[in-house]
Amino acid sequence: MTEPATSPTVLKARKAPRMTYKQEIQTIKNLPRVQRLIVIMKIAGVFLVAIGLEGIVTGQYLYTLFFVPLGVFVSMLPIRIRTGVCIACRSPLDSRQAICPRCGAPQM
Ligand SMILES: [Zn+2]
Repeated sequence: MTEPATSPTVLKARKAPRMTYKQEIQTIKNLPRVQRLIVIMKIAGVFLVAIGLEGIVTGQYLYTLFFVPLGVFVSMLPIRIRTGVCIACRSPLDSRQAICPRCGAPQM
């Protein structure tokens, strides 16, 4: 029985834009500040939604109507902040740009 030659499994690596070492460091340096804000907003959003859901349990639907949209809005805010400027070099970015045109840092 003849075994076919083992064909090497070609794994197509994602073509991610390469950052220079300096850009990468700059990105990491700026990240905690941005991420901290995002985390705070997300927690606040979840907390507000939780208050709203509590309104369903307790029958206070006005709470739900007020806090759930507010919580969703707050947790959505960081996305707007993020798309405003580059996370690495802080140059203004278009909301649709996934990669900074100035320094090439990918926006998360
Ligand atoms: Zn940049």
